[in-house]
Amino acid sequence: MALHRVGLYWFSNDLRVHDNPLLAQAANECQQLICLYVLPPEWRQPNRYGLRSLGEQRWRFLQASLRDLHQQLQARGQQLLVLQQNPLHSLAELISSHAIEGIYFAQHAGYYERRYQQILRQRYPFIHYNSAATHTLFDPLQLPFALTELPENFSKFRRLIESTALRSRISPAQPAPLALPRSPLPSELVQRKWQQLPPVVTVADHPWQGGTSAALQHLQRYFSSAAAQYYKDTRNALDDWAASTKFSAWLADGSLSVRQILDALAEHERSQGPNESTYWIWFELLWREYFQWYAHAHGKRLFNFSGLKQRGPTTSFYPARFQKWCSGNTPYAVVNACMRQLNQTGYMSNRGRQLVASCLVHELGLDWRYGAAYFEQQLIDYDVAANWGNWQYLAGVGADPRGHRRFDLDKQTRQYDPNGVFILHWGNQHASLVLDDCDAADWPISE
Ligand SMILES: Cc1cc2nc3c(=O)[nH]c(=O)nc-3n(C[C@H](O)[C@H](O)[C@H](O)COP(=O)(O)OP(=O)(O)OC[C@H]3O[C@@H](n4cnc5c(N)ncnc54)[C@H](O)[C@@H]3O)c2cc1C
Repeated sequence: MALHRVGLYWFSNDLRVHDNPLLAQAANECQQLICLYVLPPEWRQPNRYGLRSLGEQRWRFLQASLRDLHQQLQARGQQLLVLQQNPLHSLAELISSHAIEGIYFAQHAGYYERRYQQILRQRYPFIHYNSAATHTLFDPLQLPFALTELPENFSKFRRLIESTALRSRISPAQPAPLALPRSPLPSELVQRKWQQLPPVVTVADHPWQGGTSAALQHLQRYFSSAAAQYYKDTRNALDDWAASTKFSAWLADGSLSVRQILDALAEHERSQGPNESTYWIWFELLWREYFQWYAHAHGKRLFNFSGLKQRGPTTSFYPARFQKWCSGNTPYAVVNACMRQLNQTGYMSNRGRQLVASCLVHELGLDWRYGAAYFEQQLIDYDVAANWGNWQYLAGVGADPRGHRRFDLDKQTRQYDPNGVFILHWGNQHASLVLDDCDAADWPISE
């Protein structure tokens, strides 16, 4: 006997049907179910940094993920309603028109997403709410500390996780439910809403294709190759698809679960043998885990100029410098190449991200939040916790025990692009060597 006559599953960072215990719970508890995704219109409008939260590359990827999810749901007798509206308005309408009794949503590291969830609970206390950590390796209750006691840096966090052998207690990924309760919504309405979505700029042969189907294919291909065996040696490469795992974009929107990656990694270790490189994939997934809980623990301080510190960095905002950084026209060839790679593909290697962030803060003297906001707009794998947490770290206002990291860009170029191949491919090696066009008194500077 179902618990709720009508339930609502609100998808966000969990765009999948497999390894989604919360969806399986909704399937067991509801007679009818509405599956909903809401795209807040402000994501595509200029924010306080004059940028958009959702740029073209991620929008293309996200739409493919949503379509794939819709198909997966259809195969189980369901459908995905996608609305472009303030989430609270969408939910208010559905709650009153369908007398929703139970709502299911994944825990989210995003401050605004959590605010929406809180407001919903306050406005409709008569509804039964169910939430679970489906975006992370661990449930908060499994962590060997309370969230308020989150270790102040990654090394301490990792040591605690490893000394308590928590990896062995991570449950394996769960299969998708075979069938789901039917939707009370007419399929014509759902179709109409799909047609109203903003168009996608298609990019032929783009390596990042959204959705679970593409994610699982990539997962299978990655671990059946030898790439994982060399990951630790190759992961810092600036431009090689196989050099790092490239799981990030699917992890970010949840079309792939981190536990599925861990299962595939374990299987790979059984067949090809564990080594330092396979361990390092786990290590990096722990970084991700750390930043997820960091965002949960620090709430809106994730976006503060001074981060977790008492004082912010001694940087400011220079629009012309920022513009040069965004478009890859700085005096630093490697930074230009990385930024152009990001602008064209929506992706940049981890090493590249560190270099351009260090350049923005230390060479250009810019407010790190603008850099983070630009990444938010451009990155196909944008994840609120990983992005803002890493930017804080590099700006010296976050979880870095060393205070801040300034990369020697010449030395890094010699190390990671010794023959100039990367810069030649993406770069603007003829950019002006002069940073500013005007001096402090606003006089034009000639080269
Ligand atoms: C300034 C800056 C901003 C970043 N913004 C994001 C972001 O918005 N979204 C995002 O997913 N990652 C972000 N990262 C982390 C990292 O650069 C990317 O996860 C990685 O480059 C993605 O490529 P990959 O999947 O091949 O990574 P791999 O090297 O193969 O790593 C495997 C997985 O581990 C996780 N991971 C690796 N490094 C980190 C890290 N430093 N922090 C958190 N998780 C990590 C990712 O989930 C990644 O997919 C950022 C790093 C920096 C320095």
